[in-house]
Amino acid sequence: MSDLQGKHFDTVILGAGMSGLAAGIRLAYFGQKVLILERHNAAGGLNGFYSIAGRKYDVGLHAMTNYVPPEAKGTPLVKLLRQLRIRREELDLAPQLGSAIHFAGKRIRFANDFSLLESEIAREFPRQIDAFRRLDQFIRDFQETALSAEPGSARTAVAAHIDDPVLADLLLIPVSYYGSARENDMDLPQFAIMWKSLFHEGFARPYEGVRQIVRVLLDKYRAAGGQRKMKCGARRLLNDGRRVTGIELDNGDTITADQILSSAGLVETLRLCADQPDTVASDNIGQLSFAETITVLNQDPRRDFHWQDTIIFFCDSDRFHYETVRADGSVASLIDPRSGVICIPNNYAYSDQRTLPEGWLRVTARASYSGWEKLSSADYAAAKEIWHTHLNQIARRHLPAVADDAFARAVVAQDMFTPGTVERFTGHLGGAIYGAPRKSRDGRTPLGNLFICGTDQGFLGITGAMLSGISMANLHILGGKS
Ligand SMILES: Cc1cc2nc3c(=O)[nH]c(=O)nc-3n(C[C@H](O)[C@H](O)[C@H](O)COP(=O)(O)OP(=O)(O)OC[C@H]3O[C@@H](n4cnc5c(N)ncnc54)[C@H](O)[C@@H]3O)c2cc1C
Repeated sequence: MSDLQGKHFDTVILGAGMSGLAAGIRLAYFGQKVLILERHNAAGGLNGFYSIAGRKYDVGLHAMTNYVPPEAKGTPLVKLLRQLRIRREELDLAPQLGSAIHFAGKRIRFANDFSLLESEIAREFPRQIDAFRRLDQFIRDFQETALSAEPGSARTAVAAHIDDPVLADLLLIPVSYYGSARENDMDLPQFAIMWKSLFHEGFARPYEGVRQIVRVLLDKYRAAGGQRKMKCGARRLLNDGRRVTGIELDNGDTITADQILSSAGLVETLRLCADQPDTVASDNIGQLSFAETITVLNQDPRRDFHWQDTIIFFCDSDRFHYETVRADGSVASLIDPRSGVICIPNNYAYSDQRTLPEGWLRVTARASYSGWEKLSSADYAAAKEIWHTHLNQIARRHLPAVADDAFARAVVAQDMFTPGTVERFTGHLGGAIYGAPRKSRDGRTPLGNLFICGTDQGFLGITGAMLSGISMANLHILGGKS
């Protein structure tokens, strides 16, 4: 028995990721007795970090989306800071230098100013620029945060405006990689969220990366009186068919709460319910997962290698395929390298011209969960080695050339995460990166006091996940506060 046995809370939150922490802060500000349960040993969820030989590796964060300059009003970032009472300086956000989409021989640049993307589309696709502007207007008018927004198809909406399949694919690459749980498509509301947060707002990064965001959230939560229990998940949600009546913890304790807010995923949360079979909602398990290589360099990527971009979304095939990777037992089938994301965390305009002490190159691509999970530990290590080399080669073809021996000499450390890592950091079945394809937009579940927040409520990314935690707490627990 531990200190929690038999205790009662106003609200218990499952998961200390971005959405769980944000919800916890919000509820604690309003005087609630809140407990966050986290199965992992560290907070942050998908946006966590881990250490190897004293060096910290970020898992999620390439960029915090939704960046707006300090004077901007009424945007998601501004709302988030106000609701969580975070001063901008606390996040130390540095804007990106500029990013790009590489596809079908075209290189489209974009930055935290929409006009650059617009002029690039006009340059590369002059006959489509009016259609592009109409698509943009359609998205700007779209009420994506309305909880009643219908899923819809982003592909269909794009095709209704743009008749050049190359441009249609090109526009879907960044938004899919940063937030689609659906194969070869995206829910329309999520597409609108990502479009605005990537192209109209933009990218930023705290100097210390995701650790800075997690630290600020934990400090706020603690100062507001919130409690948390790490390395202890919720094992079962006891219920009477209408409400959750008790929460059985991994350590065997049972606690109670008036309300439960879960960021553990929609299918995963339903499966915690004691009256549900282990197979419930099998058709709604996400099938898309990622692997990522992380390479640490003793050179500054921009100064020494002339790599200027912050993020590059690339696709080397004729069409953009955003689909499950089906492994056939060979190492070659573990990852689909035809498209992916290159991130260089050094390429942000850090204040006072600060530079990161080491150079970083991160390359993300879609990967097969089952393929990686079936490997023995020796084969797993060998496959990581092979794919690390291969993905870096592919990425370097999209970057200004650096001689192989100069690049090899610059590498001081490397690691790679795979779909199993995603599963460990999030609890998502199958390492589903963006959770279930069908979301619970209003956060409701069949049980009256159990609500979903975060990825499977449908607001994505770091900012989106935090806003999801805030809005679900406001709506379902704080009686509609805003
Ligand atoms: C490679 C990669 C790069 C990304 N890059 C960016 C980026 O650059 N910018 C951006 O904005 N977003 C990015 N994202 C997306 C972003 O990380 C997520 O949208 C966001 O972190 C989701 O937060 P969440 O709180 O909904 O869920 P999660 O982060 O999944 O948190 C859920 C938490 O619940 C815990 N949990 C699960 N089950 C239980 C249980 N039964 N009991 C207790 N706890 C449990 C998990 O351990 C986890 O900590 C990226 C994601 C990936 C994978």
